[in-house]
Amino acid sequence: MEYKEIISDKQKHIALVAHDNMKSLLIDWAIKNKDILKNHKLCGTGTTASLISEKAGLNVKGFKSGPIGGDQQIGAKIVDGEIDLMIFFWDPLEAQPHDPDVKALLRIGVLYNIPIANNISTADFMLHSNLFNEEYKRIVIDYDKYVDKFRKHK
Ligand code: PGA
Repeated sequence: MEYKEIISDKQKHIALVAHDNMKSLLIDWAIKNKDILKNHKLCGTGTTASLISEKAGLNVKGFKSGPIGGDQQIGAKIVDGEIDLMIFFWDPLEAQPHDPDVKALLRIGVLYNIPIANNISTADFMLHSNLFNEEYKRIVIDYDKYVDKFRKHK
């Protein structure tokens, strides 16, 4: 498999998603880390984004609510290289009506090699990593080269 690099700027594009039982944890985390987060570009699924905007006073661009397509919208942004990392507090104790979308979002995040925090301690480690405030080159599979390989077989 061939790989290529995608560069994340110092200013990160961060996606924020929390299932209903996890929302208060993510809101409290965002309030606690407001001074760091305010220097980055934030987006999130509809309800999560609007609650964090309101309660933490941060500017968070909202997509549709997760169960009605917001997870897929964020997944598409990851594919387009417009999200550098994701804080996604999914609920380990309750099945979601949009479980297939949740799985798809996690899969696409792994495929595109973005850092994903699924709980507070990981989010803390992520935010306080030296890499967080630096330009970062992440490697992703180069699908153009992958397709070329098949062309050559014809
Ligand atoms: P919500 O979506 O922020 O709109 O509640 C979260 C999710 O369930 O993916």
